[in-house]
Amino acid sequence: MDKKQLVIIGGGPAGLAAAIYAGRSDLDGMLLEKLSPGGQVLITDRVDNYPGFPEGISGFDLVDKMAAHARKFGIEEKNGEVVSITRQDDSSLKINLAGDEEILTRTIIIATGATHRALGVKGEEELTGRGVSYCATCDGPFFRDQVVAVVGGGDSAVQEAIFLTKFAKKVYVIHRRDELRATKILQKKAMENPLIEFIWDSIVEEIMGSDSVEAVRILNKKSGAKSTLAVQGVFIFVGIQPNTKFLRGFVDMDQGGFIKTDDWMRTSEKGVYAAGDCRLKPLLQIVTAVSDGATAAFAVEHDLS
Ligand code: NAP
Repeated sequence: MDKKQLVIIGGGPAGLAAAIYAGRSDLDGMLLEKLSPGGQVLITDRVDNYPGFPEGISGFDLVDKMAAHARKFGIEEKNGEVVSITRQDDSSLKINLAGDEEILTRTIIIATGATHRALGVKGEEELTGRGVSYCATCDGPFFRDQVVAVVGGGDSAVQEAIFLTKFAKKVYVIHRRDELRATKILQKKAMENPLIEFIWDSIVEEIMGSDSVEAVRILNKKSGAKSTLAVQGVFIFVGIQPNTKFLRGFVDMDQGGFIKTDDWMRTSEKGVYAAGDCRLKPLLQIVTAVSDGATAAFAVEHDLS
């Protein structure tokens, strides 16, 4: 079996940036992606803080450009789902794919990103797709002139709450503290929006509805008061978890499954690098994912030579 010099697992901004740098360095590389490139950014309505786009750009358009850029430098693409990675006797790495396919390579960049975290309350799983959503860009238009709740207080919750006011007639943001985690500029925009109302110090205990969402049961943590809020949609943005399950026990991670690396993106396993939202770092943004991808590809080239 042919041995690649580099396989990049995941085609979000980190993986695509790594592919651009690897392609320009003439590495014999492959980009392995479950479906099509893009990652989480694909479902981001508007990206306002990526340098070079002062008017903002849709997440879809941004990753589309990144993918076209990577293709220009000749990266080989393959679809497949990685089940595990194992070390061979000759020190090369074997990527085991679903369907018993295997790829041999000298180095790997893990750029598998992260996915949304669930709230874990009664009614959430049953009503997902029937009023419960984790993607405002995908499902927002279904809630025209309706009342929706957003759960969370980070950048995602606040940004998507603002986006939802394009469709919904009222957007409640339910946050478990009395202070948002989101950046100040987003906070200001949301506070000034007359269609957004904040419900502070509160958690959603249950999402109710028979065929679709009808209400949420809320507990105010400070007063202990319980109430029911009639809504037709619930958008949950309570953080993300890294897509690193298939690597458990293979590379060092923190308790949450974020991969530990050095400044060169090297993991605890020789020849394995990590980049983007799956990596343990202080700022999870497109711009830092892209930076990680470039650094990882540079480190691969350096270490191979
Ligand atoms: P996040 O920053 O981790 O925020 C998660 C929010 O959910 C927090 O407000 C947290 O409350 C709340 N939360 C967590 N668990 C909860 C639970 N069980 N019940 C109720 N609330 C809960 O996650 P994120 O907003 O998805 O953002 C992830 C990363 O992407 C961040 O680094 C963010 O900056 C970045 N991002 C950036 C942009 C942008 O720049 N435009 C847009 C989206 C995301 P506490 O505050 O009390 O912990």
